[in-house]
Amino acid sequence: MAPNGPVFSAMLEEFDGAARLLNLEPGIWKILTHPKRQIAVSCPVQMDNGEIEVFTGYRVQYSMSLGPAKGGIRYHPGVTLDEVTALAAWMTWKCAVAHIPFGGGKGGIICDPTRMSRREVEALTRRYVAEIIDAIGPEKDVPAPDVNTNEQIMAWVMDTYSMHVGHTSTAVVTGKPLELGGSLGRREATGRGVMIVARESAKHLGFDVQGATVAVQGFGNVGSVSAQLLAGIGARIIAVTDWKGGVYNAGGLDVAKLTDYVSLHKTAEGFPGGEPLTNEQLFALEVDILIPAALENQLTGENASAVRAKVVVEGANGPTTPDAHRRLHERGVLVIPDILANSSGVTASYFEWVQDRYGYFWTEQEVNDRLEAKMCEAFYAVLKTSLDYKTDMRMAAYVVAINRVATVTRMRGMYA
Ligand code: GLU
Repeated sequence: MAPNGPVFSAMLEEFDGAARLLNLEPGIWKILTHPKRQIAVSCPVQMDNGEIEVFTGYRVQYSMSLGPAKGGIRYHPGVTLDEVTALAAWMTWKCAVAHIPFGGGKGGIICDPTRMSRREVEALTRRYVAEIIDAIGPEKDVPAPDVNTNEQIMAWVMDTYSMHVGHTSTAVVTGKPLELGGSLGRREATGRGVMIVARESAKHLGFDVQGATVAVQGFGNVGSVSAQLLAGIGARIIAVTDWKGGVYNAGGLDVAKLTDYVSLHKTAEGFPGGEPLTNEQLFALEVDILIPAALENQLTGENASAVRAKVVVEGANGPTTPDAHRRLHERGVLVIPDILANSSGVTASYFEWVQDRYGYFWTEQEVNDRLEAKMCEAFYAVLKTSLDYKTDMRMAAYVVAINRVATVTRMRGMYA
């Protein structure tokens, strides 16, 4: 089982570079470039019109060396096994960079939830969980939200699993509603981590985050919270784009008003507090901080040369192609890679899992303080590695992650 799709190949290209820097021995190299387990399931669902549809779902458990597999479930028409496998590998490196005791996993269902009713999404979720039930659990594999999945869907995952095992099991999934064992601070956690690494990057490069200009691509959970929190520490959010359009205001957008507008209109397009702006224009803006917080492959070989930001903070998973990354690095743009920049989402998931397992819940301040400490630990571990190895932050994050997973793999040895 050696995956060779385009997304997995992009992951491998990054992996191989770091593995070479580490002088990784061939045996461990082979282990770490193969997914431990790939599951494909068919999920029949009776649709509202009475017809039966069969949806394909995947769950990939890439590594379980450091602990249970961990990673989100996405609902998207473009889901492929190649993509889910690569994302599960990235979760492995992300958890290792974040220094939390999890392996990496990812799930996905090929579907378009925007064209499905709530009942259809619930039925699909429950059937998918029933199909993978033996493979998941608090000690085995702990899903979470990802693209197009949310707290309600996590509640259905938790309920379906609990009904099967015969008791309430909150720690099987994270990103749940607060009332069902969710954690305070989880919803804002990814955006909070993006803000923290943007702030620390500014410190490292010697510019003041107060008054710094920021452009954000994608105004979902990650983009909107990063924008709010960066505005909260004095940065000026001058541009936002999303799937439909965008807005620009050189004097700074009113992020609170924009957030209200987007929750009503589902897009930033047409927001009265600025002028219209396209994605390509956003990437080319002269800003201090650029945050791609939408989907994969947004910064490409074609548009990366136009980027004039000092720092690119990857809020999304895989927003920069390897070609784009090379161009940005050559031009001296500091890129904070996804596996570091958005790792606070899974770190907060770890906190949720811990709280569920001991049945005692922390205050929001406790969550945020622990998140701050974990993110700073991760940022400076990667920065130090990048200086020690004279390499960029992405390579350094891989070096930190691969080294941790390789060390544990060596210590545990071969079972049989
Ligand atoms: N889907 C998020 C990610 O890609 C969160 C995963 C988790 O919390 O397990 O990092």
